[in-house]
Amino acid sequence: MDVHIFFLPFLAPGHMIPMTDLAKLLAGRGVKATIVTTTANASRVQPALDGSPHLDVTLLTLPFLPSVPENVTSLPTPGLTPEFIAGLNSLKSSFERLLVEHRPDCIISDVFYPWTGDLAAEHGIPRIAFHGTGSFVFSVGAAIRRFKPHEIASADDEPFLLPGLPHRVELCRSQLMGGMDGSDELMNQMTESYMKKTYGDVMNTFHEMEPGYADQLSKKTWLVGPVSLCNRDATERAVRGGGGGGQENEFDRCLDWLDSKSAGSVLYACFGSLGQFSSSQLGEIAGGLNSSGRPFVWVVRNNAGYDDTSEWMPEGFEEEEGLVIRGWAPQMLILSHPAVGGFMTHCGWNSCMEGASAGVPMVTWPLFAEQFFNERLLVDVLGIGVAVGSKVCSNVVEERTFVSREQVRKAVEEVMGGGEEADERRKSAREVAEMARRAVEEGGSSYNGLSSLIQELRDIKAGDAALSEN
Ligand code: UDP
Repeated sequence: MDVHIFFLPFLAPGHMIPMTDLAKLLAGRGVKATIVTTTANASRVQPALDGSPHLDVTLLTLPFLPSVPENVTSLPTPGLTPEFIAGLNSLKSSFERLLVEHRPDCIISDVFYPWTGDLAAEHGIPRIAFHGTGSFVFSVGAAIRRFKPHEIASADDEPFLLPGLPHRVELCRSQLMGGMDGSDELMNQMTESYMKKTYGDVMNTFHEMEPGYADQLSKKTWLVGPVSLCNRDATERAVRGGGGGGQENEFDRCLDWLDSKSAGSVLYACFGSLGQFSSSQLGEIAGGLNSSGRPFVWVVRNNAGYDDTSEWMPEGFEEEEGLVIRGWAPQMLILSHPAVGGFMTHCGWNSCMEGASAGVPMVTWPLFAEQFFNERLLVDVLGIGVAVGSKVCSNVVEERTFVSREQVRKAVEEVMGGGEEADERRKSAREVAEMARRAVEEGGSSYNGLSSLIQELRDIKAGDAALSEN
């Protein structure tokens, strides 16, 4: 039998979606894939598997702590609560029972489960870490820890140069995520388990997306992305793992609306599965999009207390040139629609990869976590993004930089408008997409990355089998 891999994704769409895609990709190459998640999250993963009935991916479920939300999207803010972390840790014993019962040859688990390193070591199988990010953020993090350039900056918003990187990259102190100084316990545990008990990394990225950065990683790493491209032939309109929740008619409405627009004319604005704003900031986004004069599709989270639309949506707003989707959007389908010519994004890693794979230039509006690092990759390294001007990294809505409608309009115009710079950016975006497409094709760098991962796991399995025979 071929190698059998257990996948344990972190309980957030931005981690479950790419790991499900990874499981599907490996299953497509002959590996036996088992996704392990909690009962409530299984209904988010299942639709993505229904779309690929020919693949041998099994779903196993675990019980979570009672009365604790089972997904980051159900937490009041995107920061992890102690209860939620306790819930993640509570999965250890039932996950171990599954290990004993099914005896997989490898665990690919999210870095958010440091205890999977211990279990893998105890059971004598390799643990491979999935980070939900690319490699650029590791180089940025390492440069900050090593050279501490932020300590020399005289003000929080004063840009400083990151030493030791292959490109000129500047950040400011207010854009750094918390926990980088060793003050976050979960992050410390993750780092320790990662350093000591992790065989290697598998990353949803490709060499050309982060030129020169993967080479700086300390562990053995397989770059296998963009994993979302494994869905490019999927014709179903069900959302990939996000929990469409009966929004199919709305998806049809959106795609029909896009069909009526000319090529490259529409801006798609979406801030991931967790992006929240104050009502006044939503009002500025609305105003900026409207005054840009460009058609747009704008996704506004449903669960974020914006129910009173009169507080932020100008009269007649939707009927003008824009479409507002409340809740979940079929992002991959929208981005790959020919009418879409730009993407306003919060720079979550999956959105960066998906925007890059679709070949669209981006308006970058990072909010929290490592999103400000990703912004620099899009803007400074790849030259496919225009920053809207946010400066403060925080998952607390009120703490962030307030971006005016004029800033929104200006950034949209820069990305969607004419002129040499905009044309150059569009050209670069198309080139990156072409490289992404080639990377996952047979013989491409990510295709080969996946082959070498599979081969290594096969070799380990064969070595173990030989050992037990002797
Ligand atoms: N997504 C989607 N529809 C939405 C919002 C998000 O399909 O309305 C998907 C998006 O395509 C991506 C993931 O959810 O695959 C979000 O991951 P990302 O890393 O961009 O951001 P996060 O939600 O983790 O902040």
